[in-house]
Amino acid sequence: MKIYNTLTKKKEDFIPIEEGKVRMYVCGPTVYDYIHIGNARPAIIFDAVRRYFEYKGYEVNYVSNFTDVDDKIIKRANQEGVSASEISERYIKEFIKDRDALNIREATYHPKATEEIDGMIEMIETLIKKGHAYEKNGTVFFRTRSFSDYGKLSKKNIDDLEAGARIAVDEEKEDPMDFVLWKPKKEGEPAWPSPWGEGRPGWHIECSVMSRKYLGEQIDIHAGGEDLIFPHHENEIAQSEAANGKEFTRYWMHNAFLNIDNKKMSKSEGNFFTVREICQQYDPQVLRFFMLNSHYRSPLNFSRDLMEAAKNSLERIVTAVDQLEYYKEIINKDKVLSEEEGKVIKEAEQLVEKFMDAMDDDFNTADAIAAIFELVKLANISCSADSSLELVDTISDKICSLCDILGIIVKKEKELLDEEIESLIQERQEARKSKNFARADEIRELLRQKGIVLEDTREGVRWKRV
Ligand code: AMP
Ligand code: ZN
Repeated sequence: MKIYNTLTKKKEDFIPIEEGKVRMYVCGPTVYDYIHIGNARPAIIFDAVRRYFEYKGYEVNYVSNFTDVDDKIIKRANQEGVSASEISERYIKEFIKDRDALNIREATYHPKATEEIDGMIEMIETLIKKGHAYEKNGTVFFRTRSFSDYGKLSKKNIDDLEAGARIAVDEEKEDPMDFVLWKPKKEGEPAWPSPWGEGRPGWHIECSVMSRKYLGEQIDIHAGGEDLIFPHHENEIAQSEAANGKEFTRYWMHNAFLNIDNKKMSKSEGNFFTVREICQQYDPQVLRFFMLNSHYRSPLNFSRDLMEAAKNSLERIVTAVDQLEYYKEIINKDKVLSEEEGKVIKEAEQLVEKFMDAMDDDFNTADAIAAIFELVKLANISCSADSSLELVDTISDKICSLCDILGIIVKKEKELLDEEIESLIQERQEARKSKNFARADEIRELLRQKGIVLEDTREGVRWKRV
């Protein structure tokens, strides 16, 4: 199995630290708003990476954090006149809804920055003790020049960086390249007590601390979007390696951007669509398929045309599987596998190999999906109501299990019957009456996922299939 490592700029054989186990950390979202589909790209890609490792028999410890204290969260809280934690809790809940809709599995651990402050203080103290950090009037800085490997991930030279950097007048750094580990409390901001006075952590320290706590001092894979290479991941390396005295991460994986008109999709540029918006227009599986249909290190341009193409492609797989399910019901079950059909199964096995080869080659999901399409084509040509059950079963199983490795759902769920919908609506009304809004929302979401939209009117609840 080969993985492209940003650190060495090469594809390398994957050798885990501990046999049969993968320790993996994926930088998670800052929870101040709904996530946009650019944020969904790493979440989907690295979920597929995890699923593939698990398929290969590895036990994966998958950690992904929530950055729940940050300037953007505080700004939003002040705008709305609520606490920062109210904002972050709200958008963690919304993130979970998007995650579930996209069939992204829950991480083994989803630590929150605000619940790990003690660990951050402890690591900062270690860094100060070792001479890698210093305090000036309540702010603690990392002494970047004290870490001789600084720049090894982003291939930046500290002298070049410094030439372009300047110390702002109000800063008290020893050197322009030093970065903040702890900052003092400002009016209207959340703060925690620390040896340097009340304050809050800088952004980078949380990942070094959570990664060590949940995965150990050395991990196999650290991942995120390529915008995180510098400074975030470079700073994480400096903090972790300076504090622990060991190599931090073996394989650094970074996804390329999801773009619009060849520009990175981002909140600050305003050129974004939320996952929520897109999933109102398309089945969430279409978005997942769209992301996986190109290699994670290639930039991906978002457009309606490409989403339509993804929708049609996915539909081709779903229809083929549906057809095979139908054959299974009507087929003459006594028919034995013919010699010709045996050859078809051999061909299908080769296509499965092709899928695995593509995934072993730095998770090339685009080529892996191409192999699934060849299987679909084979099914369409070779299977019919006259086939043996063994053939139809084998081909159908292969298509479904390959899609399952990628987390793409292709088996149509049984549609809800009208009575089932009515009874769920009834339950939702009762939940609302007893002020159990969480359950009421859950039911609405469950129905939405099944393509049922509710409308609250004065005459009561109306529903329709979309
Ligand atoms: P943030 O909430 O901005 O920290 O982003 C969460 C994750 O989404 C990080 O791994 C980012 O690198 C990634 N990300 C943000 N924008 C994009 C984009 N347009 N394309 C791909 N990944 C992105
Ligand atoms: Zn991080």
